[in-house]
Formats: sequence, structure tokens, C-alpha cells
Amino acid sequence: MRTPTPGELLAVWEDTTCRTYLEKILQLLYVTSGNPTACTPVLWSIGERDARLLQLREWLFGSQLINLVHCPQCNELIEWETGTDTFRLQNWQQQPEVQLHSIATDDCVVHFRLPNSNDMLQVLYQEAYLDDASLILHNCITAAWHNGEPCVAAQLPQTALDAVNAYMEDADRQADIRIQLTCPACEHQWQSHFDIVSYLWIEVDNAVKHLLQETAVLAMAFGWTEEAILALSPQRRQYYLQMIKA
Ligand SMILES: [Zn+2]
Repeated sequence: MRTPTPGELLAVWEDTTCRTYLEKILQLLYVTSGNPTACTPVLWSIGERDARLLQLREWLFGSQLINLVHCPQCNELIEWETGTDTFRLQNWQQQPEVQLHSIATDDCVVHFRLPNSNDMLQVLYQEAYLDDASLILHNCITAAWHNGEPCVAAQLPQTALDAVNAYMEDADRQADIRIQLTCPACEHQWQSHFDIVSYLWIEVDNAVKHLLQETAVLAMAFGWTEEAILALSPQRRQYYLQMIKA
């Protein structure tokens, strides 16, 4: 994995205009994965995906994270600040693979993989015939036996499904990033979920729009092409912009 170039960021931003945040981020991961023929980002576990997004965020915008959230009790708007290290529970892998896991209960054996972004996209686009959590769980179960007989996920007892869920949560803890918060107004304490997908894409969106504005200023001032301006290092770009303002 590597940092995207300004031109690549711009291309991903443009190519995914009408897509969801998740699809935009998956395209960014695909471009920066460095090995597109290997297991594609859409098949990485959510934890693997988010470990990589934390790394990409550090490379692109640094390690300091600032976010706003409303207190669920009194609706006070709270700003929190922390470092990416706070949220890093695992390192990203050079060659992520789809791993199969299995559990055995008193009467069941279940083989399954961890949830991935493809499951999340199915939730986004599904016709509601299953609740979201059940759809993801059923997607992930690759084989199952109940009392020695092969069965499908829908035929498994709830105790077996609960055991698979618990195993998944423990095996992919990076998939659920949380921060402990205390409201300064009412002192309510809670754990707030942090969505690195939307957080990073909003930053990319702002950065690309800023880059386009700078490119337009430089093109008008010097007559350079967009390609030539995007090839400049950020330092050179800023220096030329200062020359225009001087
Ligand atoms: Zn509050």
C-alpha cells in the first residue's frame, strides 16, 4: 500500500461522483493497494480495511483526529480529539487473504469468514427480506451442520448464530472503532462509534476541492496544464501560490 498521488486522488474523486462513501473509499483502497491482482479490498475483512484506512489517513493528513458528536442524552455538540494510534488495534497485512474460521457447539459445526465490505454493500442495496445483521451473518457462513446433518444458515439454532457473532467480534475487533466520551454539560458517559470510512472521505473531498482551486489559480497565472500542476510537490505549489499573492 502507498500514498495516492494528487492525480490519483482527483481521479478517484471524479470516477466515484455518484457512489456511496463506502464505494468511494473502496476505489481509493484499490488504487493504493499496490497489488490489485491479489484479494481485492471489497473482500478484506472490515477490520483489515479500517486498519489500512487509518494508515492512509496518517499518510495523507497526519495522525491527529478531530471530530464533532452530539451527546445522546442532552444533544450538546462535543468536539473530541485523539491520535490514530488510539484507534489502531491491529496492523494492516501486506497480503490480506480471506480466512475461514470454524466453531463447534454441542450440536452444530459452522464454517465462516469474517464480514467484508461486499456484505455492507449488499445491506445498502438489498430488498428488505432479512434484517441487516442476519443478512451479513448468513453471507459469511460457508458451511454448517446441525446434529450431523448439513444445513443452511437459516436452519441453525440461535445459540450457534450467537456464537458465530461473538467469535467474529473478537476476531475482527478493528471493525468496531469506539471512543469513550463524557459530556461536559450533563456528564453522561458513552462509547461513540467512529466511522473512518466517512471521516476519511469527507477529508479527501475537501482536499480535492482545495487542490482544484489551487490548480485553477496557477493555471490562470502561469498558463500551465492541470497535469503539470498536479505533478508539482505540495511545497512547490504553495511557493508559486505565494508568488501570485505577493
Ligand atoms: Zn450531555
